[in-house]
Amino acid sequence: MNKLVVISAPSGAGKTSIVHYLLNAIPRLSFSVSACSRKKRENETNGKDYYFLTVDEFKNKICKGDFLEWEEVYENQFYGTLKSEIESIWKKGKIVIFDIDVEGGLNIKKLYPKNCLSIFIMPPSIDSLNERLNSRGSESADSLTIRLNNAEKEISRNNEFDNVILNDDLDIACQEAKKIITNFITN
Ligand code: 5GP
Repeated sequence: MNKLVVISAPSGAGKTSIVHYLLNAIPRLSFSVSACSRKKRENETNGKDYYFLTVDEFKNKICKGDFLEWEEVYENQFYGTLKSEIESIWKKGKIVIFDIDVEGGLNIKKLYPKNCLSIFIMPPSIDSLNERLNSRGSESADSLTIRLNNAEKEISRNNEFDNVILNDDLDIACQEAKKIITNFITN
C-alpha cells in the first residue's frame, strides 16, 4: 500500500529538524518538496527545500489542477503539494513524508484516511516559538507576529492528529517520531 506520513507543527516548532533526522534514520522515507510563493531564504535550495514559484506561476498551477492541496498560508504566500511529487515518490516504492502546516496536514489525512499517519509536533510554549523564530532571523516583525498568532490556532487543533509529540528535547522527540513511524511502516 502507498503510504504517507504528515508532520505538522506551527512555524518554529522544530518540525524541519525532526523531518531531516527522520529522512536519515528511515531510508524508505522520501520528502515531498512543496511549491511555494514566498522568497527563498539564504540557506534554501530550489527543488530541494521548495519549488520556489512566483505568485502568478503558483496561481497558474492551481488553475491547471496540479495541486493535491494548496493554501494561502500568509497573504500572497501560497504553499501546496504537487500531485506529480507524490506520484513520483510512490513510483520509486517509497513512503512520502510531509513538512506541512496544520490545515494542509489534516487535508492530506482526510484524502488518505487509511494510509496516512499524521503527527503533530507540540512546541513547549509560545515563548519558545518566539525565541526560535527570532534566532532564525529570517522573519520581519510583522511576519513574526502573524506566525505567532497562527501558532496558537494551530496548537488548538493538535487533538485532530493521530499522534502528538512534545518537542521539549529535540533528541527525544526525534526518537519518539522514529518509533511511531517505524511501527506504521511495518504494520
Ligand atoms: P515556511 O515559510 O516557514 O517554510 O512555511 C510556512 C508554513 O507553510 C509551514 O507551516 C509549512 O509547514 C507550511 N507548508 C509547507 N509546505 C506546505 C504545503 O505543501 N502545503 C501547505 N498547506 N502548507 C505547507
